[in-house]
Parts: sequence; structure tokens; C-alpha cells
Amino acid sequence: MAEMVRTGRCVVAVDGPSGSGKSTVSRRLAGELDARYLDTGAMYRAITWAVLRSGVDPQDADSVAKVAGEVDLEIGVDPVAPRISADGVAVDQEIRGPEVTGSVSAVAAVPAVRELMVALQRDIIAAADRIVVEGRDIGQVVAPDADLKVYLTASADARAQRRSAEYAADLSATAADLARRDRLDSTRATNPLQQAPDAVVLDTTALGIDEVVGRLRALLEGRLCR
Ligand code: C5P
Repeated sequence: MAEMVRTGRCVVAVDGPSGSGKSTVSRRLAGELDARYLDTGAMYRAITWAVLRSGVDPQDADSVAKVAGEVDLEIGVDPVAPRISADGVAVDQEIRGPEVTGSVSAVAAVPAVRELMVALQRDIIAAADRIVVEGRDIGQVVAPDADLKVYLTASADARAQRRSAEYAADLSATAADLARRDRLDSTRATNPLQQAPDAVVLDTTALGIDEVVGRLRALLEGRLCR
């Protein structure tokens, strides 16, 4: 019974590269903790969708920043059915498509876009009692005071296999896209993908979802957010 009791405010930060298991693990953990769930990647993807819709070149930082400043994002935080809309349009499907995926790292590298998104993410976190937040810069930048910081990794092969199975996409094209995004996300000047020094690192290559979630629950034992 004890584990069903809400024991106070709690923020869990989950960072890592694409295909490391962040989304699946974060949603499951949020459900088990009776917490909200924030997918920050979906926010960068929705901005990218708006950039492409407006015909702006994703490499044109000034124009990208202008679109980001004007678009109205609505971000759902239900771990069972996370939804996102941009300017009143539900973009849950479109943001997972190849066009958005191909341009999101360029858009996410624009400092003004990051500034806007980080501010929005902090507002969402502040408004939630308990929340699991996934992304690339959560433990380092967005929520440096998180109760638990996790950095998920997996081998490049395992990540490509997971992603290609998820989207029924070609394995070698998926592997190439992941490698390209990893490089861009890790080398950009503003808030690159980085492991927070105080993050718990979990390699999920050989672990199932239950095992990863179980380990995170164990790490939360004795903390406020059990
Ligand atoms: O997690 P997902 O693959 O949906 O993220 C899409 C892209 O959004 C990443 O490749 C990265 O460029 C960007 N991103 C980011 N910072 C975050 C979350 C995602 O730069 N906190």
C-alpha cells in the first residue's frame, strides 16, 4: 500500500540519446509514481513542424527564432496519452515523421529556441507536483535540482534496432539518422546532450523495460518521491 501514497513534490530528470529507452521508461515510471510526464523532445519537434509549415529554412536561425516566438504550443502531461498541439493543430503524428526528424536537431540548436523552450519547461515543472521529464539537457539545465537524474544509454546497434522496429523503418537509414542526430545534439554550442555529473547512468542495451523501471524505483526508495 505504501507505494501508492503520494509523498510529496518530486522531479525526475531522464536524459540520453535517441533510442536509449527514455520515452518508454519515463512514461511507465510517471504512471507508477502517479506523476505527470513531460516529453521535451516533442516540444522541439512541434516547433520544427511550425518552422517547416511556414516555409522557413531550418538553418536560418533568425527566422526559426521568430517562428518559435510566435507559435502557440499546448503540451499535455498525461503519461498515458501525451498530446501536443501547435497553433491549435494536433501534431502528435506529424512530429514523428521523417521531415520533422530530419530538421529537429538544427532547430533545437538555435539558442533563442532553447531559451524559450527551457522557460516553458520550467513553468510546466513548477506547476506540477510530481513529474518525470525526459530530454537531453534536463538534469544539467532545465531542472538541475531534480530529485533524481538518470542518464540512459544503449549501444548504437540496439538504439537503431529499437527505433527502426518502432517506426517500421529501414535499419541502416535509421542508424545513419541516429548517428547524425547524436553528433549534432552532442556538439551544438548551447546546452548539448551531456551526462550530468550527478546522474545515475544506466546502459539499457541488455535490459528490459521492467528492469530499467524497477531499478529507477529502487533508486527512489527513501526519497521524497517514492
Ligand atoms: O527525444 P527526441 O528524439 O524526440 O528529440 C528530438 C530532438 O529534439 C533531439 O534530436 C534534439 O535535437 C532535440 N532535443 C533537445 N533537447 C531536449 C529534447 C530534445 O535538443 N531536451
